[in-house]
Amino acid sequence: MEPLVEVRGLTIEFPMRAGLLRAVNEADFVIPKGQITALVGESGSGKSTMASAIMRAISVPGRVAGGSITFDGRDVMSLGKKELQAYKWEQVSMVFQAAQNALNPVARIKDQIIETFRAHSKSYTEKQMVDKARNLLDYVRLDPDRVLNSFPHELSGGMKQRVMIAFSLLLDPQLVILDEPTTALDVITQAYIFDILKKIHKDMNITMLLLTHDIGVVAKAADRVGVMYAGNVVEAGDVYDMFKRPKHPYTAKLMKAVP
Ligand code: ADP
Ligand code: MG
Repeated sequence: MEPLVEVRGLTIEFPMRAGLLRAVNEADFVIPKGQITALVGESGSGKSTMASAIMRAISVPGRVAGGSITFDGRDVMSLGKKELQAYKWEQVSMVFQAAQNALNPVARIKDQIIETFRAHSKSYTEKQMVDKARNLLDYVRLDPDRVLNSFPHELSGGMKQRVMIAFSLLLDPQLVILDEPTTALDVITQAYIFDILKKIHKDMNITMLLLTHDIGVVAKAADRVGVMYAGNVVEAGDVYDMFKRPKHPYTAKLMKAVP
C-alpha cells in the first residue's frame, strides 16, 4: 500500500465565543494510492473539517493547531500561493457537501466552468476546457449540450451532483474528495451515482475519499475506511476486516446499523 495522503496528529480548532472548539483532535489518517477510502462518522464528528484541510480549503495557520499533511510526500501545509493553485483542483479536487447548491443560480453551466477553471496553471484554452467538460458530462451520462447551456434550476438534484462530479475531474486530479455525495438524493439516484463513481475510479485510476455518515455506503463502495468519533479517528483499516472485527466500541455500534 503506497500512501497518497498522510495525515499525522492533525488538530483543527475553531474559535468560538466561549473558547476553542476542537473539530479534529490529533488525527492520524492515510489515503492509499488508487483506492476508495471512506471516512465515516456521525454528523459533527469532523469529517468535512479534516477533508477540507487536505484540500487546503481551511486557513492555515489559524485553524490548524498542530500536525502535518503530506500529499505524495509533499508538505501540504506549507504550499505557497502559486503552488496552491497547482495543488487545488489539479492534484486534489473536492465535491463539497450539498455541492448542488454551490452552482451560481444566474449563470449557465458552461460559463461557470470557464470562470472556475480559467485561473489554473494547467492552461487549457476555453475551447479545450469546454470540450473536456463535454466529454466528462457525457461520461457521467448527461447530455453535454443540454447541460452546458442550462441554468442550475433547470437540472434535477441528481443531475447537478453529476455536473459537480464532472467538474471535479476537469483538471485530472489524483485525488477526488466527495463529501456526502448522495446524502440528499433518493435511493435510485444514489445507486446511480455510486455506479458512476465506481466507473470513474476504475477507468481513470483516481484515488477517492468518500465522506459519509452512512455505513451502508461504506459497505457498497469503499476498500478502506476510517471511523471518526468526536474529532478523533478512532479506527482505520480494510473495510472487510473492520466489518468482521471492529475494535472500537463506536465502530461496533456502527456496524450493527448495516442493513
Ligand atoms: P462532519 O463533516 O463530520 O459532519 P464537521 O467537520 O462539519 O463534521 O464539523 C465538526 C465540528 O466542527 C462540528 O462541531 C462543527 O459544528 C464544527 N465546525 C465545522 N466547521 C466550522 C466552522 N467553519 N466554524 C465553526 N465551527 C465549525
Ligand atoms: Mg460534513
